[in-house]
Amino acid sequence: MLSICEIFYSLQGESTYAGLPCIFVRLAGCNLRCAWCDTTYSHAEGQAMSLEAILQQIQSYPARLVEFTGGEPLLQKTELLPLLDRLHQAGYTLLLETNGSISLQGLPDYLVAIVDIKCPDSGVWKSEAELGAWTNNLPYLRPQDELKFVLCSRKDYLFATDFIRQNKLQTHQIIFSPVRERLAPTQLASWLLEDGLPYRLQLQLHKLIDLK
Ligand code: SF4
Repeated sequence: MLSICEIFYSLQGESTYAGLPCIFVRLAGCNLRCAWCDTTYSHAEGQAMSLEAILQQIQSYPARLVEFTGGEPLLQKTELLPLLDRLHQAGYTLLLETNGSISLQGLPDYLVAIVDIKCPDSGVWKSEAELGAWTNNLPYLRPQDELKFVLCSRKDYLFATDFIRQNKLQTHQIIFSPVRERLAPTQLASWLLEDGLPYRLQLQLHKLIDLK
């Protein structure tokens, strides 16, 4: 059984898969409390659903792309892995969005992980030692995995660009996403243009066109 917050069908909005029809499985529960979290409703206990019931709901939609998100889906990693296998065997393309604080070790090769690296203004870490959870995960990144930095400020931008450089992460697809009403997209665009960095500015496409 998995604890599920919701399953819905929309456009993928926050990765290099943005714009594609996608089935979202939002798992319940999160171990972090980001200052700008826009899915606090996913922190509560969800509905217990069997693997078969989840598969049935996924198969009721016409798309072949599925994203697991949260909350933090890797809190239910043991129960999640058999579901990923079933979907992979059925020919689905699979994405998993994770907050980056839980080990990525053992994720299957067919899965694309979209891994958040939390910046200072997220408020989830206060020291270099607490930042360790994210650096501990770096050896487990696979070439296909994407890194997402959600930015509130110039401080966050400088942290993100330094983190990428210091940890030699430039070979991954890098996504910079501004927090609504905290950092203007035009401001972030001007910093990227000024520095000429090959990082992708991304707005929450599904919200811009008023989808869930
Ligand atoms: S990790 Fe995601 S769900 Fe959890 S608090 Fe942060 S933004 Fe919200």
